[in-house]
Amino acid sequence: MDESIAVARARKLLRDVGVTTVPVDVEALALSLGFHVSRQELPDDEAGCTLKRRSKIHIWVNQNDSPLRQRFTILHEIAHHVLELPSRHGEKVPADELERFSGRHPEEILCDIFAAECLVPWEVIQPLAEEKEFTLENLAELAEQFQASRSCVASRFAQASGAHLAFVVAEEGIVKYSIASKALKEARLWITRGIPLPKSSAAAKAFKSGFSGLHEADSEAQDWSNSDDARRFACYEQATYHAPTKQTHSILIFEELEQRPISSSYRCVQDDRDDLLEEIDGYPGWSKPRY
Ligand SMILES: [Zn+2]
Repeated sequence: MDESIAVARARKLLRDVGVTTVPVDVEALALSLGFHVSRQELPDDEAGCTLKRRSKIHIWVNQNDSPLRQRFTILHEIAHHVLELPSRHGEKVPADELERFSGRHPEEILCDIFAAECLVPWEVIQPLAEEKEFTLENLAELAEQFQASRSCVASRFAQASGAHLAFVVAEEGIVKYSIASKALKEARLWITRGIPLPKSSAAAKAFKSGFSGLHEADSEAQDWSNSDDARRFACYEQATYHAPTKQTHSILIFEELEQRPISSSYRCVQDDRDDLLEEIDGYPGWSKPRY
């Protein structure tokens, strides 16, 4: 199973249940699938668990966790059921695992992706991502509106935006997760998982400082991506660091440095090479070739 299947199943569930507004009523969603959700006194290191009692399935969540965390835990447990992925953490969800990437099974990450898709439905985030700027301040507001974590909202915003954006999560200075907007992918700019954070980045500085907080940096897109097309972009970054998890979150906004005009001779060359025309359509600021 890959991410697209997890996403498709989450969307189908939302459609089946008729979810169109946020914050999504996670407990109603659970109930529609036959799960009984309750808050329980659980050990600090346990976010939740699923158990069967007299043919009923119960999801217990840690009552001491924040409401946002509880919502995510419930959906993560639902994901195991809907995606038919057996839990790799036993029946208990360890508190330090959710929404983290190091040392986790791919199945568990797929369940997080499913949960994020349910918490921040595409139909709702898409128009908001078109309308608002990608800033930490706006993400904080959206997190409130969706009742979801900022990283969850940020990934979904980047996916839905028409601008050149990316959201990058690193742990201990290594990129663990990156989500690029469609426009950024079309500009052929990739940020590879597993690479160290660029030295010039706000996230690297934040990590080095060792203190939780907000950092900003201007850099070149080439610092983040070794793709040739990165040369065309500058990058502005806002980053936060969370010391207990050694995790940095970067929001990256790429700006195109120069927009090469399409000369008539250039267009003529392109006309002979149909395979390139599609790619040109992806560049903002370039007019479409006319025939
Ligand atoms: Zn799990």
